[in-house]
Amino acid sequence: MTQSSRKFGFCLFIIIKASILTNKEMKLTKRLFSNLQTLTPSHLSYFRSILPPNSIQTEDLDSYNTDWLKEHKGCSKLVLKPQNTLQVQEILKYCNQERLGVVPQSGNTGLVGGSVPVKDEVVLSLKNLNKIEGFDETQGIVWCEAGVILDVLNGYCSERGWIPPLDLGAKGSCLIGGNVATNAGGIRLIRYGSLPGNVLGLEAVLPSGEVLSDLKALRKDNTGLNLKQLFIGSEGLLGVITKVALLLAPKPKSIQTSFLAVRSYQDVVSLLKLAKTQLGEIISAYEFIDKDAFNVILKHTPRTTNPFDKSHEFYVLVETSGSNHEHDAEKMEAFLNSAYEKGIVVDGTIASNTSQADNFWRIREGVAVATRKEAKDIFKYDFSLRIPEMYDVVLECKKKVGKLGRVMGHGHVGDGNVHLTIITENGKEVEKVVYPYLYELVQSKKGSISAEHGIGLFKQGMLGYSKDEESIKYMVSTK
Ligand code: ZN
Repeated sequence: MTQSSRKFGFCLFIIIKASILTNKEMKLTKRLFSNLQTLTPSHLSYFRSILPPNSIQTEDLDSYNTDWLKEHKGCSKLVLKPQNTLQVQEILKYCNQERLGVVPQSGNTGLVGGSVPVKDEVVLSLKNLNKIEGFDETQGIVWCEAGVILDVLNGYCSERGWIPPLDLGAKGSCLIGGNVATNAGGIRLIRYGSLPGNVLGLEAVLPSGEVLSDLKALRKDNTGLNLKQLFIGSEGLLGVITKVALLLAPKPKSIQTSFLAVRSYQDVVSLLKLAKTQLGEIISAYEFIDKDAFNVILKHTPRTTNPFDKSHEFYVLVETSGSNHEHDAEKMEAFLNSAYEKGIVVDGTIASNTSQADNFWRIREGVAVATRKEAKDIFKYDFSLRIPEMYDVVLECKKKVGKLGRVMGHGHVGDGNVHLTIITENGKEVEKVVYPYLYELVQSKKGSISAEHGIGLFKQGMLGYSKDEESIKYMVSTK
């Protein structure tokens, strides 16, 4: 055994995520892949002996093999859907012994191909681990299994006066375990912070089948290494998350949603500063969409109406959540008055009822699906950058791509997270132009090549653009 292969021990989770590997290590991954066993009838018999029939699927596996963007298709022959932690333990222990590759899959809504098989690994679907197990209404904490759909969790908590600290466009199909495993961001982050601050505990099954459990859900616990943090955003590298304890936020009694138009990205930034100063603690979303993305959304998103009579360069959705309607409305009005007086906002509207607010959010959340419908090929990036420089990447990319495609931007301005999308009929040509150009550009601006989507399958080998060699070595040795 060579030094480097000993370093990885067994290969199970290296196959799941080769994302933290450099090119040299990716070669090793390929070799490890060749060491994996192919599924046999005897493997299948074993799974039948430990799982009920409805937890084993061997047909109609397309949706499990294909990622959301339909960029990659694996060829797994088996999907296992365990119903409790013990079954996950048995599956992983056996796969590890038998050297069967495994890919854990949550809602399969990720944008970097992280939840689909690279080749013919067994898909471990967490969707049947869907019980909500406990709720503390005094502290606002929920305990649940990994397969609970985010929107279902939202509904459950909402009925009890609380909301989860995260919300994203895929909430109707993404699962909370996948959200945690990929450190999903979304639109509430500006208000409630990221998952590492809100996940109070988790249970994870290690590749050996052993369970690491920390579900005490204490706000403070200074007893050695905070191991659960390693699993948040680990994308399945270290194990499979089976349960989480999540800190909730009080359900707001008053929500105000406004959709505003500004002339330039500079004004998007000035408006953010004004919003932070004037709306303060009640600001709960600050999202921007540029003109090109806005037009594509309206073209392809059902049940949306344009809140504006004229076309504008940039649009900003500002939402506040608070506990006192009068107080919040006064603040929003004062903020909008200042924004108009200063000449930052040129047009805008406040939703006067929930159906108008829903229309605003359908526009904002329609972007992912709409851009996919607009052209044959699509490239999606999610960069983290200093807020004032965030849109420069879109402008520079536009110059580079020229007539080969259309480049557009939207994102979570308050979090410094821009989503850059390129749509084109000529993907191969665009790829030559933007790779590695865009990654080098983000690196030169000291940004991150992934703010919230993760590394997955599509960004394998790109980690070096955001992490130095020592950090990568440390990650690999931790693995
Ligand atoms: Zn996002």
